[in-house]
Amino acid sequence: PAELERARRLIREVPDYPSPGILFRDIAPLLADGQALRATVEALIAPFRGAFDVVAGLEARGFLLAGPAAYASGTGLMPIRKAGKLPRPAASARYALEYGTAEIEAHDDLPAGSRVLLIDDVLATGGTLIAARTLLAELGYVTAGTAILFEIDGLGGREAFGDPALHTVFHS
Ligand code: 5GP
Repeated sequence: PAELERARRLIREVPDYPSPGILFRDIAPLLADGQALRATVEALIAPFRGAFDVVAGLEARGFLLAGPAAYASGTGLMPIRKAGKLPRPAASARYALEYGTAEIEAHDDLPAGSRVLLIDDVLATGGTLIAARTLLAELGYVTAGTAILFEIDGLGGREAFGDPALHTVFHS
């Protein structure tokens, strides 16, 4: 659709950020455009409509998409946070970065067996998504689907995540 094509063109490419050789996909211009934001959020949730109870967003840019996705779906919202931000984390998952490791945490405020739609802005190597899926399982929730705004091809993220139903709105 034309609206989505326009939204895609609003994703800004920033060379050498956050380090030399990295081409950063900046979604801020897309978020700034009301029609593009709406079309993108609708496209993110479309394949999973009626199949999830809650949207989980990954800090920080995943929050910006998960909120509108939950509102548009009439579901609840679950923040998955970087370690050290939650008052009473119920579970955590650690994952490797290029240098060192990172950790994400979440609360257990949902009923056991809740069906969760996992949302983030960008898929690169897949490490973040794999950790998030592990975290949801540890909490006793079901990952009902995974939806990503922009998939960077060629970094192995899709293969590493290994979910044939992984849904990405745009890719490089
Ligand atoms: P991965 O764990 O798949 O290697 O990296 C994905 C995570 O890093 C996501 O949470 C995403 O927000 C962030 N990320 C990695 N590369 C980019 C990028 O080019 N643009 C944006 N906006 N986020 C990125």
